[in-house]
Amino acid sequence: MESEVRSIRVGVPSEQWNDWRWQLGHSLRSADELADFLRCSAGQREEIRRLSKNFRFAVTPYYASLVNLEDPEDPIGLQVFPQSMELLCSPEEESDHIGEEQYSPVRRIVHRYPDRVLLLLTEQCSVYCRFCTRRRIVGGGMDAGYQEEVAEAIEYVRATPEVRDVLISGGDPLIYSEEKLESVLAGLRSIEHVEIIRIGTRAPVVIPMRITDELCGMLRRYHPLYMNTHFNHPREITAESAAACARLADAGIPLGNQTVLMRGVNDCPTIMKRLVHELLKIRVRPYYLYQTDLAIGTKHFRAPISKGIEIIEALRGHTTGFAVPTFVVDMVGGGGKVPLGPNYVISQAPGHWVLRNFEGFMSTYTEPDDYVDRCPDRCGACKTERDVTARPTISGLIRARTPYMKAKGKAEKRVASRVRKPAR
Ligand SMILES: *Cc1c(COP(=O)(O)O)cnc(C)c1O
Ligand code: SF4
Repeated sequence: MESEVRSIRVGVPSEQWNDWRWQLGHSLRSADELADFLRCSAGQREEIRRLSKNFRFAVTPYYASLVNLEDPEDPIGLQVFPQSMELLCSPEEESDHIGEEQYSPVRRIVHRYPDRVLLLLTEQCSVYCRFCTRRRIVGGGMDAGYQEEVAEAIEYVRATPEVRDVLISGGDPLIYSEEKLESVLAGLRSIEHVEIIRIGTRAPVVIPMRITDELCGMLRRYHPLYMNTHFNHPREITAESAAACARLADAGIPLGNQTVLMRGVNDCPTIMKRLVHELLKIRVRPYYLYQTDLAIGTKHFRAPISKGIEIIEALRGHTTGFAVPTFVVDMVGGGGKVPLGPNYVISQAPGHWVLRNFEGFMSTYTEPDDYVDRCPDRCGACKTERDVTARPTISGLIRARTPYMKAKGKAEKRVASRVRKPAR
């Protein structure tokens, strides 16, 4: 591997290597650049050229330097180098597979959950991941109407008082300059009901030199600001990415991580355990483990849901509680994220539960026989926050004393009146 690192770094002075704009400017983008780097045969080169007609490629020299070229199934290489399987579309795959467009009241905003929105700031990324769930938009020409549309998105947030949390994502927002990012952050911070801002970015993983002191100095003026990054494999944690996370953490930004469960990359409890341990060492808390979405041409990356559950079961109890991410599946049809995990309830009878622990030990829990469900302090909060009991929840079912409860389609109603027709 050392020799590969040298082959892409050879002759590059470190001040250039450590400059994120140099990394972007020297990324492998064309089919031929990729084929040369991968030392492809003529046949493979032809295949990459064919793929380049459908998909955008980009790999930063830094990320490319982590690839072990001796291994055709290298877990870093698999994430960024095109494969002919991407041209296959299986019947279950769809372009807008998680149904985001039906929840888009204005361009660039996805308002799926009651109190928070996703702001798709850009469709550019420094590296285009082959498994990307947003491959329908990344690398396209959405950035054309940027000024107007971002202003409109911020106005939507301003006009929607229930939004207390804005998640800036894309694409990768850190592809933009400090000035461009700051104008968005300042716009959002000027809205009183926006309590927290989150940024979703893969920069610490694929272009850690993007996390400059200048960037951190700007970001820390917009607290409370959270950041979620996207490490998928323990080998992505390098001296450079660790230093990037340290700069962010030192700027007071709590860091979380989302991992996509991928065949041949991390579909293994041992690898995943190593990954979450390495993340905690660099002050990044595992947040979500995603079941791979049904994005077009990604079947070769998907593992069964049972593999994700197996991984969670191998972590829970076996390691630090906050090293364990929540395993989620994004529902087809716009249902949003559903958390899944192993079941620790063996059986249940009135007042009595039989549980198992992570080692297979079984025991019971006996509930109080004199419990009456009353408002504990009669503070009146529930009179203003009725929502909790109005939705079809387990407690709603128990209280309502009816045998079933239908979903009310509340979320759809919320945005239906404001939804614009999807542009693509
Ligand atoms: C994941 C997601 C969010 C954020 O969800 P959290 O569970 O709060 O992290 C918000 N909007 C959309 C559309 C999402 O997919
Ligand atoms: S960085 Fe994120 S948005 Fe960009 S291609 Fe990778 S997974 Fe998709």
